[in-house]
Amino acid sequence: MENCIFCKIAKKEIPGKVIYEDDICLAFLDLSQTTNGHTLVIPKKHYKNFLEVDDDTLAHLSKVTKKLAKKIVTNLNALGVNILTNANEAAGQTVMHFHIHIIPRYDETDKIEINFADRSNDVDLDNILAKINK
Ligand code: 5GP
Ligand code: ZN
Repeated sequence: MENCIFCKIAKKEIPGKVIYEDDICLAFLDLSQTTNGHTLVIPKKHYKNFLEVDDDTLAHLSKVTKKLAKKIVTNLNALGVNILTNANEAAGQTVMHFHIHIIPRYDETDKIEINFADRSNDVDLDNILAKINK
């Protein structure tokens, strides 16, 4: 897609620090390096996000993401890893080309906060369930 920065990286029109590539996907270091080794896995073909990517492509990216996450954790001596993807602006997606973040975790000094607030006392689970399954 025109003017898509990740399409340009996939086509090598813009350089990326590539750690893995095959016919379907590309993995490269995220510019921000939230933690050392922060990596993005993208399909070479343009899909907007997780909600829109084709199933076979997603399955392939999942397998590649697992292999790379293990390699990154091992070779960078990380203690854990967050695998995540943001879909749509409301969820924090800033680049509208599907990508999976691999964010290795080291210790409490990691400058990343994933905070799941506990709202369990304020919600009606049955009501939510009924809406989802209507
Ligand atoms: P999002 O917020 O959409 O889930 O994540 C987009 C990510 O892309 C951000 O972590 C940002 O640092 C990264 N990013 C944006 N532009 C570039 C770029 O040109 N090159 C690389 N390597 N990463 C980028
Ligand atoms: Zn694109």
